Amino acid sequence: MDHDEFRKYAHKVVDWMADYLETVEKYPVKSQVKPKDIIKKLPLNAPIKGENFEKIFADFEEIILPGITHWQSPNFFAYFPANSSHPSILAEMLMTTLGAQCMSWVTSPAATELEERVMEWLRDMIGLPKNFSGVIQDTASTSTTCSLLTAREQMTNYEINSSGMNDKGILTVYCSSETHSSIEKAVKIIGLGKKNLRKITVDEKYAMDPKALEETIESDINNNMNPTAVVATIGTTGSTAIDPLKQIGEVCSKYNIWLHVDAALAGTALILPENRWMIDGIEYADTLTMNPHKWMFTNFDCSAYFIKDPEALVRTFEILPEYLKTKAEGVNNYRDWGLQLGRRFRALKLWWVIRDFGVEGLQKKIRKHIQMTKDLVGEIRESSNFELLAPVPLNTICFRYKPPGINDLEELNLINENLLENLNSTGKVYMTHTKLNGVYTIRFVIGQTSVEQKNVNNAWLLIKEIAKSL
Ligand SMILES: *Cc1c(COP(=O)(O)O)cnc(C)c1O
Repeated sequence: MDHDEFRKYAHKVVDWMADYLETVEKYPVKSQVKPKDIIKKLPLNAPIKGENFEKIFADFEEIILPGITHWQSPNFFAYFPANSSHPSILAEMLMTTLGAQCMSWVTSPAATELEERVMEWLRDMIGLPKNFSGVIQDTASTSTTCSLLTAREQMTNYEINSSGMNDKGILTVYCSSETHSSIEKAVKIIGLGKKNLRKITVDEKYAMDPKALEETIESDINNNMNPTAVVATIGTTGSTAIDPLKQIGEVCSKYNIWLHVDAALAGTALILPENRWMIDGIEYADTLTMNPHKWMFTNFDCSAYFIKDPEALVRTFEILPEYLKTKAEGVNNYRDWGLQLGRRFRALKLWWVIRDFGVEGLQKKIRKHIQMTKDLVGEIRESSNFELLAPVPLNTICFRYKPPGINDLEELNLINENLLENLNSTGKVYMTHTKLNGVYTIRFVIGQTSVEQKNVNNAWLLIKEIAKSL
């Protein structure tokens, strides 16, 4: 492809992109293909000769698109969102065009300095204290791994990094039974052993019980173990439960334990001052992660990681072979702030999104999502055929269909599994499920960039209609 062809096809692609976003509701939200449908249509071998744009694009539309689940549809109420937005897409296109690899200051000074400033903006926007520094990671899973690694190294005076795990004793980590699976994954891969992850019981709101946390820590200390880190979740993935940060922080401070806050989704809600109660106690935290790539209209991937003591982070990760040495002083080299060496220029899209929306624009959208959620909660509460299964502090409703007269747990679980299956196979909406205390729970998440009241209304009508027909 030469420059002229690139210009021509790029215009075509951009037109397609604009059409797509405008008409995304015409596609089934959840891809309706069966396993292997796509791979069967793909040639076994790579083409020997180059193919032209028209042919590749036609295959994109005919083969690939049917196998796409449309996360940018306003009828997407599944998982947590992975939002995009017009300004984010524009910035991503520019990032791709520059193709800069932003591992250190010298490899693109603007990328480093923009990241530093934008993360200060975001820190202030979500009400974190000024003594936090930020860096962009690919995902919250990575942020959490970085946090627990830093905790591990601090705990052992950086000796595991230098001489391995020998005779360092057992390092224990604490989270609630509702915590995201990425915590267990991190504990496994950083060599602490998943049996040394303590899953603390939760209360009736699915939030960590700080008393149980303290008892478990005491018992571990009595058994000669080394409590190393606690992970508190602000907005669990199952039901957006909010762990009591202040009480957990007090326990951490008493026993001198590292505290990481996982606010992957809910961090965005902190842009609204009325939600800052969720991080009451943040002064006890060492690190916090939140994902602009979930609810903050910045396309995947972009996870914000904040740390109070970046020197501890850099000391954990820094490594300096001759070929990476540079002369620039007094600047950040973000390759030392995480796992990867090579880094994308993600700050550009975050900067663009924040500038395009403005803080007020972001607040308005988030507030609207939360209000639409509250209204729907009201309707569910009034309905005699449905019941709420968890508190709804933000934008995620956990509910089930429970027609009067049916009380058997297994029967209700089956009915709701059926309901969800039937809903999703219409292609008109997409929702997912979890289990809370063994109860099959439908999750209805209102946070898509372009979701409007009418989308929520239609989804609720559809739920009632299909439930009735079961
Ligand atoms: C989504 C989620 C994660 C994982 O996020 P990734 O960025 O996909 O790694 C972690 N914790 C919570 C609470 C989440 O909701």
